[in-house]
Amino acid sequence: MGKKNSTIIDINLNLNVRGLRPSATLAINEKSNERLQNCQNVYKLGLGQSPFPVPNEVVESLKTYAYKKDYLPVKGLPELRQAVADHNIRVNKIDSRPENILIGPGSKELIFILQLVYYGDLIIPTPSWVSYFPQARIIGRHVNWVPTIKENGYRLTPEKLDLICRTDPGRPRIVILNYPSNPTGSTYTIDRLKEVAEVARKYKIVLISDEIYGMIHHQGKHVSIARFYPEGTIISSGLSKWCGAGGWRLGTFTFPAALNWLMDAMSIVASETYTATSAPIQYAAITAFNGSDSISEYLRLSRKILKAIARYLSSRLEKMHATFPKPEGAFYMFPDFSYYKEKLNAKGIYTSVELCDALLDETGVALLPGSDFGRQPDEFTLRLAYVDFNGEKALNAAALSKEEILQDAFVETNCNRLVKAMRNMDEWFNAL
Ligand code: PMP
Ligand code: GLU
Repeated sequence: MGKKNSTIIDINLNLNVRGLRPSATLAINEKSNERLQNCQNVYKLGLGQSPFPVPNEVVESLKTYAYKKDYLPVKGLPELRQAVADHNIRVNKIDSRPENILIGPGSKELIFILQLVYYGDLIIPTPSWVSYFPQARIIGRHVNWVPTIKENGYRLTPEKLDLICRTDPGRPRIVILNYPSNPTGSTYTIDRLKEVAEVARKYKIVLISDEIYGMIHHQGKHVSIARFYPEGTIISSGLSKWCGAGGWRLGTFTFPAALNWLMDAMSIVASETYTATSAPIQYAAITAFNGSDSISEYLRLSRKILKAIARYLSSRLEKMHATFPKPEGAFYMFPDFSYYKEKLNAKGIYTSVELCDALLDETGVALLPGSDFGRQPDEFTLRLAYVDFNGEKALNAAALSKEEILQDAFVETNCNRLVKAMRNMDEWFNAL
């Protein structure tokens, strides 16, 4: 009966939505929480959520402004747009003005609305973050997946981009470049950014530079491609990752003046849908974007911890014969377990989805399959979000540590769940 009903609902769905499932990142989180409610153990390496608390002064600011109840301007609170522009000048070293900043309820929503208002194909490398493709599909945009190779850190190359654009040079296109990358943790050298920028300029591409993890480049050396393609780059960012505030839902788009017509079009859609971003959150975000010594220290320690974990996990995964680009930023890794292909097949596991299901059932480790990021289903790549640890405790321990570079012992003491997850996975692969 239930099945019949769901079929009836299904055939009445818009064709662009039919067949889609809830976003993989959110689905794995709910599945992991269900396991916890059923008293089953789970290592939550599925959803990519910052483990660190929101800096104290930003929380205090939210408390202070909780009384702010009026609808704010559609494009965002003027003082916040100013703070984001100042942040861009200070941190990204680009010319930036408040009238070119758009505030939204998460950069995810802004990326969606941009795709809605701009009539162009979407070009994304494989692997790419789980939501770009479904967003384009919901809107009915054509998507070009650009193949990449592991040996090159799964990076988009200027040659491949040129190859796609050359076939129809005048075609309107949006390219999304996300670095440090979700799912690989890789980033781009300045030379590579310049080369990609050249191709983007040649074909007048609207380039969304998704720099939501820029502030957690492990060396603090993130460089925005907007410096090399200022006229066509929209920087996408927000509070979710560097400020630990994913659930607050605040995203920012930084436009070049030449693309302000796109921002205006987006704000029409915003005005007819979400109206404006939550007022108290916008006030608190001013404190975050203005920065302070203690926010800089919070970031320094966050990076130091993430770097130590990335190094620790890399050595554990290498022992498991996984191959992957070395993470340089964010909190993700994208290991490939093809080494075990025959053994996995013998166990009836043929896809990354089946591998994830087996790992969750048999080891309690929640991960996401590479196919959710646009990889071929039978490639045994997985996305691992190394976030299952107490970020507040780790920050306090890192603040007390005298080590310039945090060693494995730090990870073993402060990120015990990650250590156990690695041990469980190691045993599982060994027993195949
Ligand atoms: N881009 C990437 C690469 C992401 O991983 C995420 C997930 N937080 C987003 C954009 C969207 O972030 P938010 O909507 O929280 O700003
Ligand atoms: N971006 C995060 C991830 O990739 C989760 C949040 C989301 O997908 O909206 O896991």
